[in-house]
Amino acid sequence: MRLVSACLLGIKCAWNGKARYKNKKVIELLKNEILIPICPEQLGGLATLREFQEIEKGSGDDVLDGKIRVKNEIGQDVTRQFTRGAKEALEIAKQYNIKEFIAKSRSPSCGCGSIYDGSFSKRLIKGDGVTVALFKKNGIRVISENDI
Ligand code: SF4
Repeated sequence: MRLVSACLLGIKCAWNGKARYKNKKVIELLKNEILIPICPEQLGGLATLREFQEIEKGSGDDVLDGKIRVKNEIGQDVTRQFTRGAKEALEIAKQYNIKEFIAKSRSPSCGCGSIYDGSFSKRLIKGDGVTVALFKKNGIRVISENDI
């Protein structure tokens, strides 16, 4: 049993109200195992629809350490919701003794290995989203949807 970014399973929880249903390899996994969908941004109290958000010039680790913030396109600080969502997601992982999370690429919550740089210009930098960073700190393996 693994956790998976909910949008990858067709749940319309992305910022623009859409699902990220394009990765058929994730859907294929359902034939042989139980996947528990989580959306850390919704768990943190953010609405769908919401503004597009990025971590400002750093990674999820820096957010958890209180060094930088997560902001949305209109300049609002959503750091509190992101950290709360990450903690809620970790709680679910612990309750079900989950050891691995399959993560949507590039998201400021679920991104694994590369995320947008905070300039809202689609530039990528190395780093993890906030939930992925918290999972890794707590010994939960994370694989990007692209590495299935
Ligand atoms: Fe998908 Fe994660 Fe973004 Fe939710 S927070 S929409 S699960 S990438």
